[in-house]
Parts: sequence; structure tokens; C-alpha cells
Amino acid sequence: MTKHIAQAFVVACMDFRFQKYLHEWLATQMQDKTYDFVGYAGSTKSLDVIMSQLDISKRLHEIKEVVLIHHEDCGAYGAESTPERHATDLHKAKDVILEKYPDLQVHLLYLHLDGTFEQVV
Ligand SMILES: [Zn+2]
Repeated sequence: MTKHIAQAFVVACMDFRFQKYLHEWLATQMQDKTYDFVGYAGSTKSLDVIMSQLDISKRLHEIKEVVLIHHEDCGAYGAESTPERHATDLHKAKDVILEKYPDLQVHLLYLHLDGTFEQVV
């Protein structure tokens, strides 16, 4: 089987309200890069599911970068969808990923309802 290389692995919520923003952001910020994309309710909330997808992406495409995107007013979080909770879960996901794949660069982003992307530090 031919090896196909991608540079990044991107995870975001499946919520239809944000897809246009995601597409625009990916088109500008990732325009020179190839990436695998996972759209899953709550993004990294179901971390086991996301890790299984990341494992495949890493094995098949040897990705170097991971972009994790959570968003405001996420239905998968319901009343717990606060910026603090999203930041906590994003960092938790980053820790788990780096423990397994220390060579990866992990970027954390929070997408607002108005389409603004905020870096989570
Ligand atoms: Zn969501």
C-alpha cells in the first residue's frame, strides 16, 4: 500500500452552525497543509473515540500536528458548556495526546458563536 502523508489532524464538533466558520478557517489557516478531519459531537468530549481516530491518522498519515477545536454553546455539553470547562477538556485532551505521542504539536482553539477563533492557552 502506498504511504499517504498528511500534516495535521483536526477535530471539531459536528454542529452545523459552525461548519461554515470551520471551512473558512481551515481554508485560510491550513491552506498549505494536508489534514485529516474528524467532526464529532462535543469534539474531544468523547476522548476515547477521538484517540482511536488519532491513532489511525498517526499510523496511516504520520501527522505532525493536532488542532483541537471546541465551541461556544455546545449541545454535547449542555449547561456545562462554559469557556472554563472547554479549556479544561481541551487541556486534558492535549495531555493525553502528548503522553502517547510526545512528538506532536497540539493546538487548542475555542470557536465563538460569531465565528471568532480564540487560542486556548
Ligand atoms: Zn458542539
